[in-house]
Order: sequence, then structure tokens, then C-alpha cells
Amino acid sequence: MKVTVLVGGVGGARFLSGVRALLGPTPFPPAVSGTEPSGEHEITAVVNVGDDAWMHGVRICPDLDTCMYTLGGGIDPERSWGRADESWHAKEELAAYGADPDWFGLGDRDLATHLIRTQMLDAGYRLSDVTAALCRRWQPGVRLLPATDERHETHVVVAAPDGRDGERVAIHFQEWWVRHRAQIPTFGFAQVGSDDTAPAPGVAEAIAEADVVLLAPSNPVVSIGAIVSVPGVRSALRTTAAPVVGISPVIDNRPLRGMADECLSVIGVESSAEAIAAHYGARSGNGILDGWLIADGDSAHVEGIAIGSAPLLMTDPQTTAAMVRDACALVGVDTPRIAYEHSAGDA
Ligand code: GDP
Ligand code: CA
Repeated sequence: MKVTVLVGGVGGARFLSGVRALLGPTPFPPAVSGTEPSGEHEITAVVNVGDDAWMHGVRICPDLDTCMYTLGGGIDPERSWGRADESWHAKEELAAYGADPDWFGLGDRDLATHLIRTQMLDAGYRLSDVTAALCRRWQPGVRLLPATDERHETHVVVAAPDGRDGERVAIHFQEWWVRHRAQIPTFGFAQVGSDDTAPAPGVAEAIAEADVVLLAPSNPVVSIGAIVSVPGVRSALRTTAAPVVGISPVIDNRPLRGMADECLSVIGVESSAEAIAAHYGARSGNGILDGWLIADGDSAHVEGIAIGSAPLLMTDPQTTAAMVRDACALVGVDTPRIAYEHSAGDA
């Protein structure tokens, strides 16, 4: 069975742990390059690159790394991002030089990933090639594809910091999220990057050829929304023969972690399961969903979208696997019995 999942960082990575627990690992990169993965089932993650940024001369891909480290057993379990057993000497030394930005958490172990990525990008490799190369070490058990190989960064339109009358500026999403904690007057989001952004190799095919496409309970605006904004992804979702099912990132009308509600309010969408489903829209209309799995106790009605409910707390991969199976069942897709144990270090 082929399952394709659109994911952001922390919520997406946890969700993928559940998909992998349900279906077993997909070897990635494949043993022989250029061949199809040889697992019994095939899990492909289309990962958000809207958060990606250049900092201190290195290319940082927060959501790709969160997925890779989480699935590969290298994530810091408390922070849910970055490497376990991390130290921060490079960051302190950079701050001592007064180097900007000083607000971004750049760990020493993590830095090695960024250095390799940057060298490979400088040598002309595509981000998708670089990601596969990094995954040779981490063996995530999921095909991790960046949504696009091009620069497609989320920027945020905010009031100019010096308070000049009504003037607005665009800052990188990381600056808004990490430095300002999303607590400044905000007017909208925009993708910034290449003029000919296209899905990375394999992305459109993974959506077209899937048995089911899942939208992880990731941030609807800056994770899922940023992926869907890559030209070609939305039409792939709308034309695939596979059913498309989303899992709600809110329970009891509150995001579980992160600040999804801050992003939703900027675009005028309420933080409720129903409002998010309506924002994605039904495929039978102009939208991207056939099904929407919401938390037990929440309610939602959107014309053209099949609504199901289940426990949606991703406490461990086995619990999350049950959620994946419920999402598939909602659109009539049968999944195997949950047969795989997760190994130590999995989220
Ligand atoms: P980020 O890129 O690290 O911000 O991560 P994502 O965009 O992938 O996921 C963030 C979203 O995951 C947040 O909006 C949370 O509401 C959601 N989330 C986190 N944990 C859970 C959970 O256990 N269940 C559900 N349903 N959503 C969750
Ligand atoms: Ca993210």
C-alpha cells in the first residue's frame, strides 16, 4: 500500500512515527539509488520547506530535520526539535562576536547537519538529493521529500518595528516565530523564493499514485498551507484518484502545542476543527479534502467532507497508528493490522 503524507515539523514527525508503526518502515534512501523503495508498503512524506532559512552562512531546514531526527531516534525528547545531548558552544561564540541573528537556537551537533547540507547545495545537489544523503545516516524508515527543491520561504507581513505610520515590512517566518513569538501586529503570510518553484522530484507522483493521501495534524497555515502553495501540489491533490484525509491539529478548539492559532487568526480562520476543515475545503468543491478526522468531543460539518472522530492525542506511535488507521477507514481504505513495534529512541 502507498501512503503519502503532507507534514510540517513536530506534529508531522509524530504523525509519521504512527504511520511507520502501522505499515512498517520504508527503506530510505533505497539500497540501490534510483530504484523504488523495497518495503512491503511505501510511506512518502512531503515535508514543508517554508521554514527554511540561511543563518550564519548555512542552510537550515527545520521541518525536514525534525522529521529526520525524530524518525531516526536523534531528536531531543524534551524540546522535540534539534539533537539529543546537544551543546551550544558555536551559538555562544557567534553571540560573542555580535553575529546576527542571536535569537536562533543553533546547536553544535545540529550544525554538522547544516554544514553538510550547505556544502552539498553549494556543489549543485538538489535539496531532495541532500535530504536522501543525510537520511543514509538516520534511516528514518519513511521517504522524506522536500515539498520543493526551490527556495519557497514563508515570510510574514508585520508592522515596521520602528513604528513608522502604517508602514509594513516582511520578515522571515523564523524571525516572527522564534524571535517575536508571533506576538507583534501581523497582517499576512507570503511565500518568497524562486519564480519557477515546482514540486520536488517524486512529490507529484507520490500524490498521484498513492492509495491514500493524509494531511498530518500539522500547522494548517505555515506547514500544510506552505506545502499546498507550491505550484502543482494543490492540483495534484485535487486530481489524484486517492482519497485525501486530514487530521485535525486542534482538540477542544485548541492547538496542542506551537502557535497554530496565532497563524490561523492572521488569515481570519477560527481555531476550530470545523473552521480548519472549511478552510481546506472539499475536493467536490474547490478544496483538497474528502475526509476530516476530528477529536472525540469536537464537532464539524462541512458539505462534501466525510467527518469522523477518534482520540487525536499522539501520545506514542502505537496510539498514533490507530489514528492513522481511523483516518484511512473514514474514506474506505483498509490498512494492515498494527504489527510493528517501535524501537528505542522513536518519538
Ligand atoms: P512544527 O512545524 O514543528 O510547528 O510542527 P507541525 O506544523 O508539524 O505541527 C504543529 C501542530 O501539531 C500544532 O498545530 C499542534 O496543534 C499539532 N499537534 C501537536 N501534537 C498533537 C497531537 O498530539 N494531536 C493532534 N491532533 N495535533 C497535535
Ligand atoms: Ca515548522
